[in-house]
Amino acid sequence: MTVYLVGAGPGDPALLTLRAAEVLATADVVVYDRLSVASLLDLAPADAERISVGKQPGGPRTSQEDINALLVARGRAGQQVVRLKGGDPFVFARGGEEAAALAAAGVAFEVVPGITSAVAVPAYAGIPVTMRYSSTSFTVVTGHEDPAKGEGSVNWEAVAALGGTVVVLMGAARCRAICDRIIAGGMDPDTPAAAVRWGTRPNQRTLRATLATLADLDPQPPATIVIGEVAAADLAWFENRPLFGRRIVVTRAQPQAAALAADLRRRGAEATELPVIAFEPPEDVDRLARAADEVGQYDWVVLTSPTGVAWFFEQLRDARSLGGVRVAAIGPGTAAALAERNVVADLVPEQYVAESLLEALSDEVGPDGPGRVLIPRAQAARDVLPDGLAAAGWEVDVVAAYCTVAPAADPDAAALLANAEVITFTSSSTVTNFVDAYGADAVPEVVATIGPITTATARDRGLEVAVEAAEHTIDGLIAALEDFFTR
Ligand code: SAH
Repeated sequence: MTVYLVGAGPGDPALLTLRAAEVLATADVVVYDRLSVASLLDLAPADAERISVGKQPGGPRTSQEDINALLVARGRAGQQVVRLKGGDPFVFARGGEEAAALAAAGVAFEVVPGITSAVAVPAYAGIPVTMRYSSTSFTVVTGHEDPAKGEGSVNWEAVAALGGTVVVLMGAARCRAICDRIIAGGMDPDTPAAAVRWGTRPNQRTLRATLATLADLDPQPPATIVIGEVAAADLAWFENRPLFGRRIVVTRAQPQAAALAADLRRRGAEATELPVIAFEPPEDVDRLARAADEVGQYDWVVLTSPTGVAWFFEQLRDARSLGGVRVAAIGPGTAAALAERNVVADLVPEQYVAESLLEALSDEVGPDGPGRVLIPRAQAARDVLPDGLAAAGWEVDVVAAYCTVAPAADPDAAALLANAEVITFTSSSTVTNFVDAYGADAVPEVVATIGPITTATARDRGLEVAVEAAEHTIDGLIAALEDFFTR
């Protein structure tokens, strides 16, 4: 078997190469460093062994000899080993030493290059490392050696003389000494300089100064330092995204929580999933199955959530039973869930709430008067729609398509909530379950809801609601958050 020396990229998990994802997926063992992003480790099989060899702050570091020995031993044992390293494995990462140890031991190895922070971190700060004519080279230098002692192997004077862009990795702690040496080497002290901490991550911060003043800003590791005309470039994009750096908790059920979190992350947020709701089959599944079989006897079937669509269609044995039945969806999300199953909703009300659907259906009464309606929905739900329809003369059958349950409380929730800025509630039951599990005091500063019903429940449970979606959809909620934070 093979030992893979794999570059994990600078932090943003999306900057992993396809090849790295491929070898991770088949790993028996993953040997990783402290700065590794947890979600990348999730790409390895659940039963793969995960070994941290990184230096914990204040704790011991596994020596390079021990790491080499570990890789050799696991490779010899016939395991598929992934040695995961930040950035590129051959850029200041001692991948060369590990490869040499494997080669000497006769253990097969492969290298999977990664996106190095030396180039990607400046890029995420809006700094191109080269510019035609003005910055025609970039030099990547380690700041690990103490330049003040003058005994290191870095020729800072030569670096200064070259005149292009200088990128210093591992230099935050020695920023002043490094900048002083470069100035002493003849570079103009007014040369623009920047330090980018936690680059490509939701907590990225960019400090901008000059070669003479950068150290005054006291850059903290891990940071990439960029010195040169390009460091003045004002091409920020990553930090300018509407929800950049916002720590947002998502309380929806899975898999919707993951989808919403991904949407938020695309807008720059640091989204965490804390589902306070989960779905289970209804108590009487047979009744749902019968209702699905007999759906052809109804004039309308009304779906009030994507989840309702999913559970109802799971019981729908023959799509043709829907033949002459008209289909109503409470909103675009539900309509999209129907469309995924090749059913085009005949009716979506203007406002995505039960009251509006009720009104829209009342316009649909034919010459023979109101007909029969089937409503497959959550076992516990508001009665506005069925009661209203019945009062208007419709013959209404409500059938439970699924149950919502509260999953066990997450032991990490307190820390997560204390660190968050925003919590999103996408239904009344997310509010109720959240407050029951963690208490009203546990909510982060900003409470955001999908619409008025959820807001009312939140206020009822003692929460202050700062953001309410004008359009009662997930996209509407995201838009409301963007609006709130850019205002
Ligand atoms: N092999 C890595 C570099 C390892 S040296 C690569 O190719 O990127 C570790 C140094 O890289 C850190 O001290 C810091 O200078 C830089 N670095 C790594 N990740 C970074 C990040 N997310 N933001 C800023 N600098 C980072």
